[in-house]
Amino acid sequence: MTLVPLPAFADNYIWMLQDGSNAIVVDPGDAQPVFDALARDKLQLAAILVTHHHPDHTGGVAALHAATGAPVFGPARERIPQPFEPLSHGDTAKVLGLRFSVIDVPGHTAGHIAYFLPASAGRAPLLFCGDTLFSGGCGRLFEGTPAQMLASLDALAALPGDTRVCCAHEYTLANLRFARAVEPGNADLTQYSAHCESLRAQGRPTLPSQLATERRINPFLRSREATVLRAVREHAELSADAAEAEVFAALRQWKNDFR
Ligand code: ZN
Ligand code: FE
Repeated sequence: MTLVPLPAFADNYIWMLQDGSNAIVVDPGDAQPVFDALARDKLQLAAILVTHHHPDHTGGVAALHAATGAPVFGPARERIPQPFEPLSHGDTAKVLGLRFSVIDVPGHTAGHIAYFLPASAGRAPLLFCGDTLFSGGCGRLFEGTPAQMLASLDALAALPGDTRVCCAHEYTLANLRFARAVEPGNADLTQYSAHCESLRAQGRPTLPSQLATERRINPFLRSREATVLRAVREHAELSADAAEAEVFAALRQWKNDFR
């Protein structure tokens, strides 16, 4: 089985999982890169998985479904092109003998879901998390609260450390620049930034990332760490007894304003 990020628009990735002559795609915001990949590798589309309703994740769904008949799976609590099989927390999407478990991850949007595929036969676990967790960052809070996003990221951070994190955008370098402003003394972060900069200089994706790496370098998974807490308190002048969600909210706001 192979995992391929198909670039779309300015910085989206449509993840394609190829198994023999079959393929599964996640968040096809545009149909054309998927049609091109199917034709190039003579693949049949077995399923379309959708994490949330934004057009850059759903724009190609209708055309792909119409042309291939591939079933569409998506978040039960959001409006995406019909027909689709509605999924929520604890549900399983079964495709090609694979079982993707669904995790509710509200925050970026109210009904956002993520898909987790456990490890099997030498393949590391895979996480398709849409716009919830990015490498070095997290999605903007368009519909959810900071407390919801923090709980969603906590749920993802609890997955196995060798999980490959398949984010839907190549935002890594900008995220890491902010992360270094928050934790200038984090040696893992310095090292990982250099690694990602060299990948981008070669035109290669920085994704998938690894969950164990994200736990060491991503400030949004580290908002309870002493170093991050101190930096956020200094930046936002939070009280010493600020709740976890307030710290997280101040961190997210800092990122929104960061240039
Ligand atoms: Zn989005
Ligand atoms: Fe997006």
